[in-house]
Amino acid sequence: MTGVPENKNNHRRQRINRLKRFIVSTFFVLMLIPNILCIAAFIRISGLDRQIHELTERLDGIAMAVSIEARDSETDIYAGNGSEAIETSGEVITVVQDEMLSSQQNTAGADDYESVRRVCLTFDDGPSANTDVILDILAQYGVKATFFVNGKPGYEDQYQRIVDEGHTLAMHSYSHKYQELYSDIDAFTEDFFEIQSYLMDVTGIQCKYYRFPGGSSNTVCNVNMQDCIDFLNEQDIVYFDWNVSSGDATRNYVSTTQIVNNVMMPVENNSWNTYVVLMHDAVGKETTVEALPIIIERLQAMDNLVIVPITDSVHTVQHVLPDEENAMED
Ligand code: ZN
Repeated sequence: MTGVPENKNNHRRQRINRLKRFIVSTFFVLMLIPNILCIAAFIRISGLDRQIHELTERLDGIAMAVSIEARDSETDIYAGNGSEAIETSGEVITVVQDEMLSSQQNTAGADDYESVRRVCLTFDDGPSANTDVILDILAQYGVKATFFVNGKPGYEDQYQRIVDEGHTLAMHSYSHKYQELYSDIDAFTEDFFEIQSYLMDVTGIQCKYYRFPGGSSNTVCNVNMQDCIDFLNEQDIVYFDWNVSSGDATRNYVSTTQIVNNVMMPVENNSWNTYVVLMHDAVGKETTVEALPIIIERLQAMDNLVIVPITDSVHTVQHVLPDEENAMED
């Protein structure tokens, strides 16, 4: 009779033992999992740490290379709202330039170039009914600017006044008609010789600087722009784009305040050594004329900054860089 309870007790002990083993093994497994995870995490962190170290070293190397390159080539990065209205026999198309455009600056006179920043005010598409007022304002403030002009018989006095008053007279094509000018390279070269000889006849000046209608980065050109650039190189003509746009041709009416802000913001917020400001000398651009005295006064109030006309000593600002090798081979 006693065998039955003992059997029961044995059975219970076995169950308790099984339960104990289960608890103990569960406890060990639960202890083991976090440890394994910890070890895995440690290995991963060590790997990442090594990667961070390598990347930091590479970054240091890149930063060093960039600073050396910046010192040597004085490359400015243009970030602005570059755009120019294109007038083609009645219709106005707006070409918006890329947000980020590289601009090249040559290194002539690099040493004294560092000490003072230069602003070149440039007026495209003139002469016009506004030219005399613009010239009056420039004279009032003792400022010299650059006029990228088209061929406009009837404005001989204004071309001459630009030259007589010490501004830079520069070319912006004779016709400014995109379909004709950029139809092929022959049309481009023919137009170039037309504006060059026309300005020579009117003023006796052999112009040395050119601005492509729409800029060198325009997207409406049928001709390969590099061919046009190579041609200008052969003629010893330097082309200038801009790295500050007044935005006065982005639409029919742009307020005076907007034009002032468009010009002053890049100048006040970037320490470049050359600012080439795009504005227009054209009928309908009266707010540009109104903005001009405000812009000049604010620029003249800034330290270490001068307003200068484009000359050989001003570093070029170009959206599309000339292909030196091609130019040399030709
Ligand atoms: Zn133009």
